[in-house]
Amino acid sequence: MKKVYVNQVGFPCESAKKAVLNFPASEVKILNSDGTSAWTGKTNHFGTDDISGEDTYVVDFSDLKEPGKYTIVADGIKSCTFEITSIPFSTLMKDVCKCFYYLRCGHGLDKKHAGVYFHEPCHLSKATVYGEDCSPVDVSGGWHDAGDYGRYSTAGAVAAAHILYGVRFFKNLLEVKFDIPQEKCDNGVLPDILAEVKVELMFLMKMQREDGSVWHKVTTFSHAPFIMPEEDTKELFLFPISSLATADIAAVFALAYTIYQDYDTAFAELLLKCSKKAYKWLSENPEPLLFKNAEGSNTGEYPEPEDYSNRFWAACALYEACGDKSYYDEALVQKEKLLNYDGQSSEQGFHANIFTCFGWADVAGLGALSLILKGEPGELYDLVKENFVNEAERLLKNTNANGFGLCMTKDDFIWGSNMELLKYLMILTVAQTISPNNAYKEAIISGLDYLLGCNSMDVSYVTGNGEKAYMNPHLRPTAVDGVDAPWPGLVSGGPNTGLQDERAQELPKDTAPMKCYIDHVDCYSLNEITIYWNSPLIFVLAGL
Ligand SMILES: [Zn+2]
Repeated sequence: MKKVYVNQVGFPCESAKKAVLNFPASEVKILNSDGTSAWTGKTNHFGTDDISGEDTYVVDFSDLKEPGKYTIVADGIKSCTFEITSIPFSTLMKDVCKCFYYLRCGHGLDKKHAGVYFHEPCHLSKATVYGEDCSPVDVSGGWHDAGDYGRYSTAGAVAAAHILYGVRFFKNLLEVKFDIPQEKCDNGVLPDILAEVKVELMFLMKMQREDGSVWHKVTTFSHAPFIMPEEDTKELFLFPISSLATADIAAVFALAYTIYQDYDTAFAELLLKCSKKAYKWLSENPEPLLFKNAEGSNTGEYPEPEDYSNRFWAACALYEACGDKSYYDEALVQKEKLLNYDGQSSEQGFHANIFTCFGWADVAGLGALSLILKGEPGELYDLVKENFVNEAERLLKNTNANGFGLCMTKDDFIWGSNMELLKYLMILTVAQTISPNNAYKEAIISGLDYLLGCNSMDVSYVTGNGEKAYMNPHLRPTAVDGVDAPWPGLVSGGPNTGLQDERAQELPKDTAPMKCYIDHVDCYSLNEITIYWNSPLIFVLAGL
């Protein structure tokens, strides 16, 4: 079918702008909302590529800068409408941030802030400590992780960190208002973004044992059926501690300390104390303590094959926060272990630029962000800077290999491919601060174009944002709350050539990577949401 693919949300007035056609058109017109012509031009034939499987024709309309609402028409085929404005992503940013509020666990969402998406209090019962002989523990609060109601320490720490590093790099994030309950601090109220992240930090504090170690996760024994969170009343279990969770918590608390100390000194001091307590446990327990699901339990496992990147992140974040040389020395030790590790990571294979990884498992890139913020010349700083620039250059090469100008290759279309994309856009954003390059900027905009509709599914992968935004996330509350539309701002996992769920397997085996997607609630391997797929988008939008 003939299609005109375009970012369905919008473009900054001064940015590069393009649309992609899958057919040759003799003339391309861009129409104002009143139907008059705003721009006329031609396509450039790019040809076929191995990610979209389409013969692509690119329209470059970067010279159209006048604010307004537009539609592209090529040989009678119309695109979705889009906007050109100085603030194209302000609603998107608010929506993406507000999702964390909607995902809150514990005391419920009120109608004033959540509207039709409110829910009653959930998961407030104390959790049984699996395999330990001790009293049940209160670990209420935090964010539901994803389509399920589990809460996982490593995933939660990483999502909070994406947002908090966003705050450290780009102060404008502190100005974003998204209508959540106010949280008092020393001199008034916390900025919304810090009030929201504090919810998760308070929960993560409860996940820490007296000895400093951290439970890997709290979930029911098996995933709940599709019911509202308050109806999920089965027994909660705290599953065993891991060095992965302990290191990630040491890291994110140290990072958070550097931010909250300007707003809430008591909370900041507590964060630092808990961070050091976790770090002390790590020092006394130098062997990796990894995690495996209990026999028969099917909730998220978040396994990792080593804990070097986690320990590296913890040491870097504490070094940045406190300046103590012993943390730097430990970061050097873990760096060596990482570079000498020849196994497979739990996400994608280890690659040359390992110090740019921001996932829930490979977190060395988060440690690198602390080193970049510290900005102190030396072995580690030089290494991570080089990694970011090298990786950004690799990503730029990718953008030239497909008609969509997308920085991904076909191997990136794995489970949660949109997070692969958003991690790449984070890397380009950081590289832009280290070594400014207009091509990095264009690649970031191009990546957002893809996410927001300029893709061969012709779909915006963020709910409520775009004329053809996807509607059916694999997410329990939005599936059963009786409201047609899901709440806005949720990033879908996106196309995945692995097709790991039953409905996904209805797609032909030779489907092009970019088309391995179905907007269906059953498709957990294509259309789930998670906190750490939303959080990198906040970082990227803040950096624009
Ligand atoms: Zn809950």
